Amino acid sequence: MEFRLTESAVVFDVHPKVQAWFTTRLGGVSDAPFDTLNLSYGVGDRSEAVTENRRRAVRAFGRTLDEVVMPHQVHRNHIEWVSRQWRGRGSAGRDSIPATDGFLSDDSGVVLAMGFADCVPIYLTDFDARVVGLLHAGWRGTAAEIQGLAVNALNAQGIDPSRILAGIGPSIGPCCYEVDSPVYEAITRVAGSEPLTVKDGTHWWLDLKLANRILLERAGVLPDHIVEAPFCTGCRPDLFFSYRMQGRVSGRMGGYICLNAS
Ligand SMILES: [Zn+2]
Repeated sequence: MEFRLTESAVVFDVHPKVQAWFTTRLGGVSDAPFDTLNLSYGVGDRSEAVTENRRRAVRAFGRTLDEVVMPHQVHRNHIEWVSRQWRGRGSAGRDSIPATDGFLSDDSGVVLAMGFADCVPIYLTDFDARVVGLLHAGWRGTAAEIQGLAVNALNAQGIDPSRILAGIGPSIGPCCYEVDSPVYEAITRVAGSEPLTVKDGTHWWLDLKLANRILLERAGVLPDHIVEAPFCTGCRPDLFFSYRMQGRVSGRMGGYICLNAS
């Protein structure tokens, strides 16, 4: 798996039969401070602009909004299997799949999607492209080991972890992510202290991508099968929105993955 930057997305070349991408803030129709490809209806942007942006985010990859499924993300570790019965749910902000931060699917008729500002998007598939998965891992979901649960769920379907491919998308980097002791404790409990660098007596810099990489590897994913897009959402306001840097009044990006429609 590799990644490349196009005009409006970071694209993961996961597998010839899989499309996986993460939108940037470029190529949409929203005005400042949501300029321009904001995908969230919940931040104060015009809803017609958001719908047009969401349409563009999938159109560039040959897919339509009525194939998209989006959840209501709650920073926990619940994972749902998605099939075409759910097509369209959450795609225009209504009828989202409730309280879910992980999606898995073996149905090429659906496009899995989630919203992100700084949290870690994790893309999953396997050597045979039998399934795809998308996870939303902020510090809470990371500490609740959503990535390990997803790997276990795939393993239960007969997919050995050594055959899983994972992509870690743009998210807040250790350069921009200062945390306090509750976060320090939650992360070190599951991933050890390696993802944390001391800032002072009560604060640390957290490398949330590394924490997820450690936990994916512990679940059995091979180091060579994990690719990381090295972008920090905080350091690149030219490319990304950042909740951490811009606050609540900022846009949101989207993570997307699907099996190619045959
Ligand atoms: Zn940074």
